[in-house]
Amino acid sequence: MNVYDSERIAEVLSPLGFVPWDTTDGADMVILNTCHIREKAAEKVYSELGRLRKQKEAMAADGRRMVLAVTGCVAQAEGEEVLKRAPYVDMVFGPQTYHRLPQMVAEATRASGQQLDTDFPEESKFDALPQDRTVDGATAFLAIQEGCDKFCTYCVVPYTRGAEYSRPAGAVLSEARNLVQAGALEITFLGQNVNNYHGEASDGSTWSLARLIREAAEIDGLERLRFTTSYPAEVDDDLIAAHKDVAKLMPYLHLPVQAGSDRVLKAMNRNHSVDEYRALVDKLRIARPDLALSSDFIVGFPGETDADFRATLKLIEDVTFIQAYSFKYSPRPGTPAALMDLQIDEAVKTERLAELQAVLNAQTLAFNAACVGKTLPVLLDRTGKKPGQLIGRSPYMQAVVVNTSEPLMNRIVDVTITSAGPNSLLGTLEKDNQKACA
Ligand code: SAH
Ligand code: SF4
Repeated sequence: MNVYDSERIAEVLSPLGFVPWDTTDGADMVILNTCHIREKAAEKVYSELGRLRKQKEAMAADGRRMVLAVTGCVAQAEGEEVLKRAPYVDMVFGPQTYHRLPQMVAEATRASGQQLDTDFPEESKFDALPQDRTVDGATAFLAIQEGCDKFCTYCVVPYTRGAEYSRPAGAVLSEARNLVQAGALEITFLGQNVNNYHGEASDGSTWSLARLIREAAEIDGLERLRFTTSYPAEVDDDLIAAHKDVAKLMPYLHLPVQAGSDRVLKAMNRNHSVDEYRALVDKLRIARPDLALSSDFIVGFPGETDADFRATLKLIEDVTFIQAYSFKYSPRPGTPAALMDLQIDEAVKTERLAELQAVLNAQTLAFNAACVGKTLPVLLDRTGKKPGQLIGRSPYMQAVVVNTSEPLMNRIVDVTITSAGPNSLLGTLEKDNQKACA
């Protein structure tokens, strides 16, 4: 979501003459788009600001001004503190107000003191953002839903991103068409709780995520659809069926489970049990037998016993994930879990995380290894480190490296996988293989 927001911020600023730059050194404006989900992410902001302060001062000594801004969820959650701890910051704005940036920039450049805008405005920022989209490469993000009403007891998102809001279906489809026109072959629908999408359609009806996917799949030129992140308790039968019916919907689903113990899931307020999660996975795999899953895990949630942790390992072994994000529980200010008894020792969290990641990494490697010899459609969208290398994504989100001298950037090509590592696959173009066989 932050990547998407950053792209849109760049689009808002483009009419003012700003262009994205790949270094902060000498920049007229630097915007830090921040994350508040874990303590480490939030603390990073202050060390980065310290570094930028030096650059800002060096520019000032040269008679130039660097406007320094902080946005994202740290801005939302602790905007006042950012301004206090880093008084050289010019603007702090939350993730819901960046459509007002031109006005904020004007005020900041008039040197009228620090700007703070962390409202949850009545108007939707999406209505005020430019309609034209730019696409860097052939893959694009499209935010269709924002905010969260779930209040998992560990999580800051409902406080920083606000209440759940679904964009109208027509606006989403028109942005999708614009993206395809601008070169996107693959679109990923985004939302903190994307499967609870319920957007208003022009006839007054409400569209679910499944309906939106089916309609978007009709867009000519769009080859691949994905969505993230899903909340398991709200995956409905129509969305499961879409995995069977919609060929453009990729067979890869990020479905965070967090833990494999009912006691912990209850304390987390996740609204699903372990068995319900398992049953959901079974249904999804019946609909789409090659569906690959990824997930999020938290270890060391308050009160997590060794038996609870073992139950999480068991769930992982039974379900199998080809990819996963796993974290030590990080107490966040203002969330109920931060005040719970039985906080887990840091050393225990570290140990559990290492054990969990070893199991998950082995599953990733096994899945990648099983792809050797298979031919996969790969959307090539980046150059590799070595000359003549292109990198792309398989349907299962694996990074695939291909050596080719042909101009295949931003194309979907069939690649036969020749070797596999934990982080990527190596392959050769299928048509080259056919030539070799003939
Ligand atoms: N909406 C998504 C997740 C958004 S946050 C969902 O419900 O699954 C992304 C991930 O960060 C979460 O899935 C969780 O695993 C992790 N996370 C959130 N708060 C955390 C905390 N306080 N400590 C550690 N990990 C956390
Ligand atoms: Fe956070 Fe996701 Fe839970 Fe919402 S559903 S509170 S975003 S973990």
